[in-house]
Amino acid sequence: MPIDPYAPYDDNNIFARILRGELPCKKVYEDDFALAFHDINPQAPVHILVIPKARYVSWDDFTIHATDGEISGFIRAVGAVAREHGLVEPGYRLLANVGQHGHQEVPHLHVHLFGGRQFYAMIPQ
Ligand code: 5GP
Repeated sequence: MPIDPYAPYDDNNIFARILRGELPCKKVYEDDFALAFHDINPQAPVHILVIPKARYVSWDDFTIHATDGEISGFIRAVGAVAREHGLVEPGYRLLANVGQHGHQEVPHLHVHLFGGRQFYAMIPQ
């Protein structure tokens, strides 16, 4: 079920538990601001989730409440993950689902990073 984008942060969401080390993940990157790991149900040859370390429900929550340092640190981390996986030259796709219409399921902000193949229509008709 899509999340309520206005719900308070749930400290027991799956990504909060991954951040605390209570659940495993296939980590590919970590710095002060972000953690990145392979999606458990990949939709492309490369499908990585990049999440901020701080407690933000969604892109909306993040862009209202995060500090400038958290925002720049997180966005730079997304770029670093793409570069480290050799995705820049062939190209890649970023996606952040927000709320019900965006069909966001996990209530901790995450950016999907897709690569490793050609993508076509952005939204299936
Ligand atoms: P959303 O629909 O919220 O944008 O995407 C959530 C993503 O999290 C999905 O692509 C789903 O496969 C992934 N996911 C859900 N649970 C886990 C998990 O426990 N581990 C990992 N690595 N990915 C997960």
